[in-house]
Amino acid sequence: MAVIDLHCHLDLYDDPIAIAQEAAKRQVYVLSVTTTPSAFAGTARLAPPGSRIRTALGLHPELAVARERELPQFERHLPHTAYVGEVGLDGSKPHRSTLDRQAGIFMDILMLSARAGGRVLSIHSRDARKLLLDLLEVEPMAGTPILHWFSGTESEIQRAADMGCWFSVGPAMLATARGRAVAAAMPQDRILPETDGPFGMNRGRALFPWDAALVNPTLSSLWCEEERAVERQLISNLRTLTEVANKYVPQGLVTD
Ligand code: MN
Repeated sequence: MAVIDLHCHLDLYDDPIAIAQEAAKRQVYVLSVTTTPSAFAGTARLAPPGSRIRTALGLHPELAVARERELPQFERHLPHTAYVGEVGLDGSKPHRSTLDRQAGIFMDILMLSARAGGRVLSIHSRDARKLLLDLLEVEPMAGTPILHWFSGTESEIQRAADMGCWFSVGPAMLATARGRAVAAAMPQDRILPETDGPFGMNRGRALFPWDAALVNPTLSSLWCEEERAVERQLISNLRTLTEVANKYVPQGLVTD
């Protein structure tokens, strides 16, 4: 059975090379997100040739203000990947004071993505969901957003889905009743699994990319479908998303 992890920080594990090699050996489809443009090239090199690991170019909202000077690097790398992430906004207490500047940088990223012809974008939205959707609406040509670990209300999910957004959900999110309720409101043909490892945890330890399949039994009960039907739906979703990505950048990188 194919395992899909649409949001994982391979470069932030204690032993990134070993984790990337194990993920490749297990043939996991991984979207390997980065937190700064300067981490992109090294992280892309973690993916063994022929693997199903694809690397996204990111500027994490918690680092965006401090690393704003890396935007020219972002622009330089952008032609080489169909995937942007992790990007977005963080309005939680430690970062609320920089939200205006985060928003400016995020708009720059959306504009660059639009100008490049669109990208698949893995997006963080903690405590800034409305503003985030407002900004995505301003730049609809940026591409196809995947809202990662999105914890919106039913009407926010509806609004996001109407705007063409996808969603990635992980075992840590689905471990809470609230997370499960949110996931149940998402369109089944726009959901993909993620781990957010090594930050995403399960029973006190960091999740690995191959743990993403832990979401399947939960989705199975939320959707009232057999697990095999869930697996088929998720693979079909990945195929659709990959076709979109390949339109942005040919061979540009989750599946082949
Ligand atoms: Mn993350």
